[in-house]
Parts: sequence; structure tokens; C-alpha cells
Amino acid sequence: MKPLVSNRYRLVCPVCGSQFDPTIVQTYCSSCNSPILTEYDLGSLGKILEPETVAERPRGIWRWRELLPINEEKNCLTLGEGDTPLLQLNNLGVRLGFPNLFVKDESTNATGTFKARGMVVAISKAIELGIREFVIPTAGNAGGALAAYAASAGCKAHIYMPEDTPKAIKIEVQMMGADLHLIKGLLTDAANAAHANAVNNGWFDVSTFKEPFRVEGKKTMGFELAQAFQWDLPDVIIYPTGGGTGLVGMWKAFAELETLGWISYKRPRMVSVQAEGCAPVVKAFQKGAERTEVWQNATTIASGLRVPSVFADRLILKALRESNGTALTVSDSEILSAQKEFAAQEGIFAAPEGAATLACLKKLKHQGWLQKNNRIVLFNTGTGLKYI
Ligand SMILES: *Cc1c(COP(=O)(O)O)cnc(C)c1O
Ligand SMILES: [Zn+2]
Repeated sequence: MKPLVSNRYRLVCPVCGSQFDPTIVQTYCSSCNSPILTEYDLGSLGKILEPETVAERPRGIWRWRELLPINEEKNCLTLGEGDTPLLQLNNLGVRLGFPNLFVKDESTNATGTFKARGMVVAISKAIELGIREFVIPTAGNAGGALAAYAASAGCKAHIYMPEDTPKAIKIEVQMMGADLHLIKGLLTDAANAAHANAVNNGWFDVSTFKEPFRVEGKKTMGFELAQAFQWDLPDVIIYPTGGGTGLVGMWKAFAELETLGWISYKRPRMVSVQAEGCAPVVKAFQKGAERTEVWQNATTIASGLRVPSVFADRLILKALRESNGTALTVSDSEILSAQKEFAAQEGIFAAPEGAATLACLKKLKHQGWLQKNNRIVLFNTGTGLKYI
């Protein structure tokens, strides 16, 4: 394999345009309270990198390494993430009257959810920059992923999660040897506890969008979709939105691919689905607002969607609006019946968050928002086995 090139990218605040030094560890733009995004030299890259080159490489997210921030290949950790199957949902497609219905099944990632994609990039890069000790407040699965990569790299992980997080996720974190703190309360309470300890102990915080690179890992879902659809993106993507990393990541991926000259200007309509009991993005979208408000008393069985405070709200809402997309809620009982239907019809035991996309599809159909021949992609973001 060819060596990776360094200094290929800039770190930029999308709100004020400030740049940040990529040779040291970065968090977010504190003047704007905004995530920092990575901008690659795509003009130069477009002249030397070809889709065929990427396609011929070994499976996994590192096949896209020129579009990821790690400088030295030896620093790329892996437990087998990415290149998840894109499956056609024939039975549900017939039932619902959408012959071109697909699921991107993220349950095959290491640790059983797509959190692995973001975490492997963030942890690889932080270690490349000298970090050895990590902390995260988490609704669950990001903690599992951090615990796994920290274990594989021989680093320490401190994980703060609500005490009512599904049991399998707590066990996973403990098995990986991480330091687990169960918090009475919600993700926001876990975040406060984690933050206080991070500052006192000098641990690096890999919370959603509080460092620049989890979104880089998650954008590989957008690359894989483009490749699977022969560089002609699907018409609709339904995405279960918590912190919005995957949605923002895919939207970024599509822009990068267009600049590389690999896809046209055509974009999917992006749909955010949230739970009725925690829907800050849906509320802001429907009000036409640019920012979300902190959701009070958040509750849903889809723990990955129980994110009351959305740090990347501006980026999520921008992607939804630019794509001519939409945002809507589903109830926990709709999620549970969709989860059964997904499993019994297609043999896929989806996480509640993934099942929410099927419940959302039904609502969109009812609203007449979709066309029969639309190529529609649901995201099953994790395995239902982690919620037992
Ligand atoms: C974290 C999580 C989500 C939400 O993902 P974001 O990209 O942060 O919006 C959805 N599903 C599962 C299973 C998750 O763990
Ligand atoms: Zn800024």
C-alpha cells in the first residue's frame, strides 16, 4: 500500500471560518460553540485518486484513507468496521408498495453498531497525536465502541452512561475493561459528570461532535452508499437521528464526492426520524428554526435517540433543508411493532433506532411524501441484540 500523505487537510469552523492546527489535538470552536470540520485538498486528490483504486483495496473504512485524517497507516486501528451490506428489502418492499427499498445494515460493525465507524477514526487520530486516556458521556453504544478501541490500543477509557442504559451495553463496556460510571439521570447529566472529571484528570473527551473526527469515520457510510449505487445516489435516506453524526457525515461525504468528480450534483432527500419522547431536531425543523432547544424529560426505548441537547443542530438542520428533506417522530409503540415486522419479514433483528426508520417510512407513505419508484434507504444502525 502507498504511504499516506500528511498535512492533507485543514480544520475549519463552519460558522466563523476559523482554522485550527491539525498537528495538535482539537476539540470544537469555543467562540461559536460549533463542531470543527475537516476539509481535504480535494482538487489535488481528484487528479490522483480513482474510484477503481478504492474499490480494489481490502474491505473496511480504511479503503477511503485519503479522505480520512490519519497520517500514518500504522496508526489506523481496526476491529473490522464498515463495508456493511446494502440489502434489498423485498418482502417489506412488496408489502409497502416500494419496489426499490433497501437497508444499510450497520449491525455487522464491530460492537454491533455504526458507532464503530466514528470511534475508530477518532481514537486512531487521537493516539496518533499522543493521547492515551479517553472519556465519553454516552447513551450507550458510543461507550461500547470507545471501550473496544481503547482496549485494542491498550489505552484507558472512562465511560459515563445513564444507569437505565440496556444491560447488554453495560456488560460490553465492563468486559472491555473500561471504567464504567452509571449516572442517575439522562445523557446531559452523564455529560456534566464526564466533563468535570475530564477537566480534572486531563482525559480527552470524544463526545459527539466535541472533537472533529468521529464524523469523518461516519461519513464513510455515504461513500459506501455512493459506491453501492454505482455513483448515482439513492432518492431518499431515512436516518435515526440522535447527535446527527451520521447524517452530517453523509451529507459531507456527498459534497466531497461531487468535488472529486465522482458523483453529480444530485442528492438524496435526507429524513431525520426521532422518537416522540425526544425530538429536538424534529421540533426545530418544523418551526423553521436554525437551532434546537434542549428537550426536557427525554424518554424513549431507542436509547441512541435519547439525545436531549444537540451540539451539531445547525449542521443537521442545514442538511435536512438543503436536501429538501424532512423530519418526523415515531412513538415507542410504533418502533416496537416495526422492530417485529422488520425481523419477521426480513430476518433482520434491528435495534429500536433502526426499526424507527421503518416506522417513519410508513408515516411518509401515509403522508404521500414518497414516490413509488423512489430508491429508499433505511439505516439499521445497530443490532437488536444489544437491547435485550
Ligand atoms: C448513536 C446511535 C444513533 C444516533 O446516531 P447519530 O449519528 O449520533 O445521530 C442511532 N442508532 C444507534 C443504534 C445509535 O447507537
Ligand atoms: Zn467558530
